[in-house]
Amino acid sequence: MASRLFRVCGALRAVRAGPAALGRGPGPLMGSCRPATSGGMPTDEEQATGMEKKVLDALKKGTDPYCLYPPKACQGTKDDPHLVPSVSSARLVGCICEEDATEIYYMWLHKGKMERCPSCGTHFKLVPLEMP
Ligand SMILES: [Zn+2]
Repeated sequence: MASRLFRVCGALRAVRAGPAALGRGPGPLMGSCRPATSGGMPTDEEQATGMEKKVLDALKKGTDPYCLYPPKACQGTKDDPHLVPSVSSARLVGCICEEDATEIYYMWLHKGKMERCPSCGTHFKLVPLEMP
């Protein structure tokens, strides 16, 4: 009786494991399905689609088309102005002149023209940005 029960349980385990366990064909987990137990969790790059995939591809190439990284430090002088990327020919910029400032000076930047903050004298320049 006990041996018959073990044979039935072994057969059920073999059916759950798939035809490979029974010696009939390839295993059930071949192909695109990858189990988590074998370390098969898809990475972000593998499962990303749409805009997320474009961003990951751009970061892999070393470019920053969506301005995800902080801007490069510069002095803000006429010779080394703050470069403001823009996809259009104009962009509104706010200057927080000091760290503890309670007001922001806004100014429009136009393509090809440098602007100067009226309060602190920092220079800003618009640079064209191309989207992928
Ligand atoms: Zn300022």
